[in-house]
Amino acid sequence: MPLSSSLLQPTALADCTPAGDLRRRLELNFGRLHDPEFSFEAAITAFTAREAPGDWLGRTLLGLTLDAQALGRETPRAEETVRRWPEACNERGYIGLVHPTGRADENQVGGHNAMLRGLSEYYLWKKDPRALAALRGIITNLMLPTRGLYGAYPDHLLDKLMGGPVSGLTVAHDGVWLGLSTDIGTLFFTLDGLTQAYLVDPSQELRMLIETMIARYAQLDIIALSAQTHATLTALRGILRWYTEVDARPEYLKIVTDRFQLYLDQARTEHHANFNWFGRPDWTETCAIIDSFMLGVQLWQVMREPVYIAEAHRIYHNAICHHQRPNGGFGCDYCTGSNGDRFVHAFKWFEAPWCCSMRGAEGLSCAARYAAFTDPAAPRDVWLPFYFEGAVTVRAPGGELGLSATGEYPYGGKISYKVTKAAAGAPWRLHFFVPPGVVAKSFVVRRGEVVLPSKVEKGFVMVETPLAADDVIAVEFAITLVCESAKYPAEFPGARHFTHGPLLLGAETDVAVPMPATADLNYLGSGRYQCRRTQVLLTPIDGLTYLPEAVARTRRLQSVFSR
Ligand SMILES: [Zn+2]
Repeated sequence: MPLSSSLLQPTALADCTPAGDLRRRLELNFGRLHDPEFSFEAAITAFTAREAPGDWLGRTLLGLTLDAQALGRETPRAEETVRRWPEACNERGYIGLVHPTGRADENQVGGHNAMLRGLSEYYLWKKDPRALAALRGIITNLMLPTRGLYGAYPDHLLDKLMGGPVSGLTVAHDGVWLGLSTDIGTLFFTLDGLTQAYLVDPSQELRMLIETMIARYAQLDIIALSAQTHATLTALRGILRWYTEVDARPEYLKIVTDRFQLYLDQARTEHHANFNWFGRPDWTETCAIIDSFMLGVQLWQVMREPVYIAEAHRIYHNAICHHQRPNGGFGCDYCTGSNGDRFVHAFKWFEAPWCCSMRGAEGLSCAARYAAFTDPAAPRDVWLPFYFEGAVTVRAPGGELGLSATGEYPYGGKISYKVTKAAAGAPWRLHFFVPPGVVAKSFVVRRGEVVLPSKVEKGFVMVETPLAADDVIAVEFAITLVCESAKYPAEFPGARHFTHGPLLLGAETDVAVPMPATADLNYLGSGRYQCRRTQVLLTPIDGLTYLPEAVARTRRLQSVFSR
């Protein structure tokens, strides 16, 4: 039995109907992925198609497949990709050049990671044998032959991989790896696609490849290599999948927890986005942000440490929301809090349609799936770690519970759950997460007019109550202004930031202003505050998708303040 059978389980996409802001974001992204640049023809001829073959096409298939399931829609464009896959391939069943035996290209292997993920998710959704055949072709002919080559992957930083005008270039290399990626470590993020492909279609050869890759990856010093954080965090998700679904060796979990902590300590921006590489805060990338969101939730599933969910709230409501653009795609920001930059603002790659716009779908669809969790060992327990609006069918071991949530979070602390169905039997135990910046004792949970007794367990407020269809459970808690130390005090000695629950606040100003005194900040509602002395307005940074694109491109919000 895999470890996952004893862990907290998220909802299946088929059991979620997101509403409100999350649904709006999914619709925007789904619409964007139906624009011409994401068609089959465009994806196989896109400017990244030669350097990172399979990447654009695979990310699009993955994004469409996940968005469509989260929205309960169909997408002929995903089916077209699977049907026309042979047109994109060489005679060996993958995209790009066929290299001599014993040699390989990092971006070609890494480029097919997204293809493996897209094909796996599509196969799990539609059970289409063509997707399985495509998956097998990539595994057999491109992936398995690399098994003997990992020892030759460079274990020190090569100067030629530093710099360069854009991300993800292939640099010629004189060795087994005849091309290396400037996205340092991209080779190992293929563990994400390989481990999911193993669950779809297991084989001993694939298992040996995965074990070889993890062993080599464990030897590498990701800080000394200045590894790309997207590559790092995607690799860690692959290793965590292997740990929970196949082989629960403690050393695998340790790689994930240690390296995720390195990321949080050294490569996370003030607004819970990422430095694109360890040690190089040049720009952020949505893909790494999505990875960090998923890792936070998945590590909570394994460890039940509330700190991971708190970080996931901050990542979603700040970084993910700010990185989605008004057209529904996702892009890159400056690394707020480093390089002397006090502002949250978009980088020159306002949107990254070659990469992040598709991957954003995974972040949003995960948010939908994270509506509720169940525990195989707790028949009538339901965990509600987020407060997204929408309906969910919870399939707990002790029966089904249907809930429909509406609420004000993260601006206000009021959420209402209407019970749409409840299996008869014992009382239900509902666990509500205490969000960052909120005090557990401010929680009040009512069924109808009756306040329910509650207790606090591992970061959650728990109530036990009988439930029946048409009951309403109302949750209320206080969200207040918090002023605390900025993330990198060495960069800005004595600097502070302001938060409202999970929301980082930014001042609407072009030029840095001094820190307002907390006592002068007047609450205006919706997470906004105004200084009564200077009139400076502090606002959540999550509102970019509501702005006209021209305004969003140049918007600057100051989030790091000094006296
Ligand atoms: Zn990206």
